[in-house]
Amino acid sequence: MCRHLAYLGAPVDLATLLCDAPHSLLRQSFAPSDMRGGGTVNADGFGAGWYEPDGGTPRRYRSAAPMWTDTSFADLAPTVRSGAVLAAVRSATPGMPVVETACAPFRFDRWLFSHNGFVRGWPDSVAALAGRLPVTDLLTLDAPTDSALLAALVADRMRTGLDAAASVAAVATEVSAAAPQSRLNLLLTDGRTITATTAYHALSVRRDDGGVLVASEPTDGKPGWQPVADRHLLTASTSAVDIRPLPVTAAEEP
Ligand code: GLN
Repeated sequence: MCRHLAYLGAPVDLATLLCDAPHSLLRQSFAPSDMRGGGTVNADGFGAGWYEPDGGTPRRYRSAAPMWTDTSFADLAPTVRSGAVLAAVRSATPGMPVVETACAPFRFDRWLFSHNGFVRGWPDSVAALAGRLPVTDLLTLDAPTDSALLAALVADRMRTGLDAAASVAAVATEVSAAAPQSRLNLLLTDGRTITATTAYHALSVRRDDGGVLVASEPTDGKPGWQPVADRHLLTASTSAVDIRPLPVTAAEEP
C-alpha cells in the first residue's frame, strides 16, 4: 500500500525531506518496512506537493514512474524549498490505472490530499455516496480511482462548511460504513495544519524543532516518533498534535 508524508516547519528542500533520510519516502518506495494488505513496493508513481512562502495554490510534481527512476525529480528536488509539503509514493490497487493523475497529492482549492489504502468493493460499494456529489465533480475526477473519489468527497464536505478534521472524519466514517474493511488512511493539509486518519494502516508523527512530520513510516531513527494507534484522527500544527478515536465502523482487520 502506498506510503505518504506531510511536513510543516522551517523551510527545507525536497531532497532533504523526501530523499536523504535513512528511511526516506524515496527508500520507502522500494524498501517499505510496514506494508499491509498486499503489495511489496511502491512502484506505481509518486507525487510531491508544496506551498510557496507567499501562499497561493500549492505546486505539485507527479509522475507514474517509480520514484527511484525519476532522475529529473532527483535533479530538481534540491532546488525546491518549502515549509509545508505533502508527498506520497503509490502502489496501485489491482484494477486501478497506473497514470500520473492517479498519484497523490490530489488538490482542491488550497488543499492537498492523499489516501493510503483501498475501498473494499470498489466501485459498487461507494456508488451511492459518489452519487450524492455534483455531477461536475464526478466528471472532473483526477482519475477513476478510489483515492480520487475520496478527495472529491472530502472537498465536498468542506464546501458544505465542515472544517478539515470534521470532513476527513466524516468521509472515513461514511466510507467505512458503506464499504466495511476498507483501508482508509487519509492525509490532508492546507500548509498550516495536517489532518490524518488511521484505518488499518500504519502512521507515525514527530514534532520537534518547531516542525511536525506525519508519515506512514518513521523516516529516521531519531527519538520522538510516536505511532498513531489504529482508527484514530490526528490533527497537527507546528505547535500542537491532537489524536483522538475515529468512529469508523469496527470491522475485522482487512
Ligand atoms: N487504492 C489507491 C490507489 O490505487 C491507493 C493505493 C495504496 O494505498 N496502495 O491508488
